[in-house]
Amino acid sequence: MTIRPNISTTKAVTPPAIREWLSTVRPMLIDGKWVAAQSGKTFEVFDPATGDTIAHVAEGDKADVDLAVKAARRAFEGPWSRMTPSERGRIIHRIGDLILHNADELAAIEALDNGKPKAVAKAADVTLSADMFHYMSGWASKIEGKTIPISALTAPGAEFVSMTRMEPIGVVGQIIPWNFPLLMAAWKLAPALTTGCTVVLKVAEETPLSALRLGELILEAGVPAGVVNIVPGFGATAGAALAEHPGVDKVAFTGSTEVGRLIVQAASRDLKKVSLELGGKSPNIVLGDADPELAIAGATSAIFFNQGQCCNAGSRLFVQRNLFDKVVDGVAARADKIRLGPGLNEDTEMGPLVSRVQYDRVTGYLASGRQEGARAICGGEGLAGSGYFVAPTVLVETKPEMKVVREEIFGPVLVASPFNEVDDALIAEANNTIYGLAAGVWSGDMARALRVANRLRAGTVWINCYHVFDAALPFGGYKQSGWGREMGQAVLSNYLETKAITSRIG
Ligand code: NDP
Repeated sequence: MTIRPNISTTKAVTPPAIREWLSTVRPMLIDGKWVAAQSGKTFEVFDPATGDTIAHVAEGDKADVDLAVKAARRAFEGPWSRMTPSERGRIIHRIGDLILHNADELAAIEALDNGKPKAVAKAADVTLSADMFHYMSGWASKIEGKTIPISALTAPGAEFVSMTRMEPIGVVGQIIPWNFPLLMAAWKLAPALTTGCTVVLKVAEETPLSALRLGELILEAGVPAGVVNIVPGFGATAGAALAEHPGVDKVAFTGSTEVGRLIVQAASRDLKKVSLELGGKSPNIVLGDADPELAIAGATSAIFFNQGQCCNAGSRLFVQRNLFDKVVDGVAARADKIRLGPGLNEDTEMGPLVSRVQYDRVTGYLASGRQEGARAICGGEGLAGSGYFVAPTVLVETKPEMKVVREEIFGPVLVASPFNEVDDALIAEANNTIYGLAAGVWSGDMARALRVANRLRAGTVWINCYHVFDAALPFGGYKQSGWGREMGQAVLSNYLETKAITSRIG
């Protein structure tokens, strides 16, 4: 097979202000101060487009996590709990404003560190991050309990007033991945701050930079010392220490299902509350009455957006047989035209994968697909040369038991298969996965599409669209895709305890 990827030929230039910012070791944020690791250790951060080192970052571990948790506890019991909801809301809103004010710089950092195209980072990651803080800021003053009429059967004749208060859960340990570094920080921090919690955030070692810059903006917005602590470091050390720290009341995690299980084990000793946003292998179903051009464009973006590194990627495409060749060839033709290049190049449409490890993982799946008999009608391999580029790939002639069909690849690899009827067998196959994060349905008949959507075991179903996220909409998984929801009013419950107060008044 000939691979003819479209390659960006412009020259990526790191903005001078970012080069300057990265010229010294980036410290971690503990108790409102930027500090080195207790151990003095640092780790390297790489540009995935070249493999070159772009930064050195303080490497947090158990000792730093311990200091951060203690600072978060002091802040929880101190200034943050004494602040009025309206003051808290104003500060959180200001964080959103500062993100927009620094949008260009944040997008460039994200492009350099994660590899995604800068224009995409600006339009999606940065914009949605700001919106998350803006949206959540309004909730700070609207977290209400109830008054509840009780029957008090054991105290006949007595009179009571009962009410509930929604209280912050306390100190939260948050652990995030590398696919949307800034946005994942926003999804985690904004609701925690809104509810009055304080946070220790462990960022992914591949992509710590945008969250560290966000930490500077958080201080500039007026968040008191210790309310947000940011500890970069490795999962097995800093991450594990945070998940098991006895001073942490709740752990919120986004990442692989495998590490999600480790988080649950670590948190179980103290029975900490846990919320998890994990993997996916989402079905994207094109019914025979769909608009093929819409479905082609949608299925392409469903899998290839963010280099396929999306937990909700539409990675299993099911197309009714009358449209199968047209839609699958259409997706492959679009995939061949996607221009690959460094995220900072203006004409780049798809960047590299985030790391050598992820490149090896994804190309390993491509090899396994070949061995098991799948056929690539476009792409199919990693690109030779520097950087971790993988050609956008569509695999056909797949079977349900193949690894590429069963497992989350987390790269630009689509598996496509035809179906004959919209029936129980189709629904069963679409739901035939341990995951249940998202799904897509394409049809010209809304009632029919809704009937399919109702039967899909997934936390999000998009009809005639894909990847539509909004701070107001809950997002999360059925089955092994997680516990709890991110965003919307629903996320607040991740960070709140309900207290019932009953008072005898007669
Ligand atoms: P991980 O699940 O390992 O990483 C997510 C976060 O968890 C990172 O901050 C990581 O730290 C941390 N972590 C790792 N091990 C532990 C631990 N024992 N205790 C506490 N925290 C820990 O994802 P990977 O980067 O290894 O990616 C592997 C696969 O996970 C991908 O191929 C993809 O399938 C899936 N994934 C899913 C994501 C999602 O959004 N649902 C996001 C990213 C990956 P560190 O970065 O230092 O390893």
